[in-house]
Formats: sequence, C-alpha cells, structure tokens
Amino acid sequence: MNTNSMGRFAIISDIHGNLEALESVLSSIKNDNVDKIICCGDIVGYGASPNECIDLILKELKISTIVGNHDYAAVNRTNIQFFNEVAKQAIIWTQKNLTEENKNLLQILPMTISEDSILFVHSSPKNPEEWNYILTMGEARLNFEYFNERISFIGHSHQPFIIEAEGKNLSCPSSLNISINPDRRYLINVGSVGQPRDRNPMAAYAICDLNKMSLKIKRVDYNIEHAQSKIIKAGIPRELADRLAIGW
Ligand code: ZN
Repeated sequence: MNTNSMGRFAIISDIHGNLEALESVLSSIKNDNVDKIICCGDIVGYGASPNECIDLILKELKISTIVGNHDYAAVNRTNIQFFNEVAKQAIIWTQKNLTEENKNLLQILPMTISEDSILFVHSSPKNPEEWNYILTMGEARLNFEYFNERISFIGHSHQPFIIEAEGKNLSCPSSLNISINPDRRYLINVGSVGQPRDRNPMAAYAICDLNKMSLKIKRVDYNIEHAQSKIIKAGIPRELADRLAIGW
C-alpha cells in the first residue's frame, strides 16, 4: 500500500442506526480488499441500533468519518425544527438512547475530509453545514465550483449517482460501475447503507480504486426483517421500518 495515496478504498454513508445493513456491508467490504474505509456521515437517526453502529465504526474499526445532519441533531447541534415529524421522533429517541461516550464521539466529527485530491462531505461541497441536497444537474454544476479536488464523495439524499464533469460539461454515466477518466472530475453520491431511497432495498456503498482508476457502487442484501422488528420494538415510528422493505 502506498501511504501517500488513498489506493483502493470503500466509502459508506447514511447508516442510520441500521446494524444489520452495516454488518452486511462491512462483511462484503472484507472481500473487496480495500486499504481503507471512509464514512460520509449519518451513523445514527431512524434505526434502532445507534450505539452499536457507533461502536463498530468509530471505536472498533476507527473508520475516518465526517458528520451528518442526523449525527449533529442527535447531539443538539442542529435544530430539528425542520425535520419531518417521523425523523424528529426518531432523533428524540436517539438522543434518549445514545450513551454519553458515544454522544461525545459524534460531537468531534469533522465536517469534511480532503485527502489525495478527494473531498468527502455529507451534504454538498458548497456550505456543507447548511445540509443542502444535490438533486438536480443545476445544483451539481454549482457544487463543482466549490471544491478543487478531483473527486467529491457525498451522501445525504440516500440516492446513489455518478456525475462526470469534462470542463463545464456534465453527464451521468449510464452505469454505476465506471472507469475514472484522469482528465475529468466527479461528484459521486454513494447511496445509503441503512435506508436506501432509490426503490432498491439493498444496502449501498462504493469502492474506488485509484490505482486501477475504477469506481463502483455496490449493493448487498441484509436481514431487513430483523432491522424492522428492532425499530418496531423500540417504539420508533413504524413508517421507518416499513420503508426499508421498499427502499424508499
Ligand atoms: Zn441520511
């Protein structure tokens, strides 16, 4: 492994307290032979296993992690007034159930990581702390002007995409398994581990290989029923269990 380069690495995001999905993704990553894993935020919120997910990501595996809006909300650093009712109830449950030690770990997560000309940010390169979504090509175009790195990985919308920029021309490759062109820049949403919203219930994550110049968004099965039953048993709004089955 070249210590000056990111080499081959996995990117996970939006775990949202779904331990079953996280374990399944981590076991898949074991077979991907990566040098490193980076987490693009939202370890908690919605799911019933926030402490277990923090334990695994931050304590056991010591994965470099940036902060997401739900992580901040869980430690009262974001106003949840603008969260929808269901998300709000889940955050209140998470606040009550997180250990003090784990709250302290969420408090100190950075807003961005930049390494080897790659930017990792939860929401968007432009004003990350405003938690804006990138949902249109116009928003993507604007955001390319707010980072100098070659690639930016994001999460937040739970909908995976790859946007390729050749100068000012933006395009979406037809596949989520591409060769990285060294003359182009990329904005990549890696999708969500614990609550996919692209009508595919399988957990999503990405593998990027800067030696082979390849990038792939992968999907893996996990025990959805188990994650659902824990949400219902915890008294978290039932919609948050139901949506896992449809990936929306
Ligand atoms: Zn999220």
